[in-house]
Amino acid sequence: DPDPTMRPAELPEDNDRALRPQALDEFIGQAAARANLKVFIESARRRGEAMDHTLFHGPPGLGKTTLAQIMSRELGVSFRMTSGAVLAKAGDLAAILTNLESRDVLFIDEIHRLNPAIEEVLYPAMEDFELDLVIGEGPAARTVRIELQPFTLVGATTRLGLLTTPLRDRFGIPTRLEFYTEDELFTIVERNARKLGTPADEGGAREIAKRARGTPRIAGRLLRRVVDFAVVEGDGRVTRELADMALTRLGVDKLGLDGADRRYLRLIAENYQGGPVGIETMSAALSESRDALEEVIEPFLLQQGLIQRTPRGRMLAQKAWTHLGMAAPNGPDQ
Ligand code: ADP
Repeated sequence: DPDPTMRPAELPEDNDRALRPQALDEFIGQAAARANLKVFIESARRRGEAMDHTLFHGPPGLGKTTLAQIMSRELGVSFRMTSGAVLAKAGDLAAILTNLESRDVLFIDEIHRLNPAIEEVLYPAMEDFELDLVIGEGPAARTVRIELQPFTLVGATTRLGLLTTPLRDRFGIPTRLEFYTEDELFTIVERNARKLGTPADEGGAREIAKRARGTPRIAGRLLRRVVDFAVVEGDGRVTRELADMALTRLGVDKLGLDGADRRYLRLIAENYQGGPVGIETMSAALSESRDALEEVIEPFLLQQGLIQRTPRGRMLAQKAWTHLGMAAPNGPDQ
């Protein structure tokens, strides 16, 4: 069997290790979460115990994996990583758990995707650092209890609502990550530009920060593309004009919305007079999975006040009509 854990360097998406903050003090933003984590990490260190299980939830690209890695580094322990989407059998998880050393951090990404049989294995492991393994089959089957080293489970999810209550209740430190402010992203972009060896001037960094959808991962991606344009079509410098030109060519508008976001808004505006529209209808009309709409597209549109969620479905807010340059039709009460 392939090793179901992957080291960070082997993750396909992690082609930007150089840009990842390595210490809690280098991590920009999420001030409330960071201040609390600092206390819990320090306390665990002084007591010489495994830190309590921690759950990070929030939209993709906000730093859940990065924070988990920072935790292990600050705790001075090893980092192991897997995903709820790849753990297929209880035995896969058992193999990982029995290989953990004392106080290690085990990171499980997309933890809402764990199947129920695996969750069952996780409960006693989290609570008592014990593993109940069933050996054999049928009438000969018996359960063996294995003691585990104390460890810290760090779970990450984009969909808190999909976690079962028993799993959720076993995390002592639930932490919600928020979209970043423009100023925080500005600092991140400036720092990353310097690390990439192509400094951005203030206007250039600000333009990218404004249009990064509140998300460091997107800020990193946009910066790389803007640098490409700067190198090939400019004089190598990331200025405001250059960033504006490049981002517009990439289909990223002034609010940071991309083509998928605008398609979503236009569908409600043009086909449903502003809604409400049910999520399944949206999913079918846009050929996007419901998960992608709920995890990736909607959180930012909601945070920006462009849409509202009502019991009858999604509705456009006035700001969306203005952004689309369209007039809102008269409401039913007019
Ligand atoms: P998630 O696990 O929430 O999807 P990641 O931790 O993988 O997000 O972060 C996505 C990218 O954004 C990474 O390249 C990471 O280096 C960068 N990043 C995230 N948070 C920060 C931050 N606070 N400061 C700088 N870069 C960040």
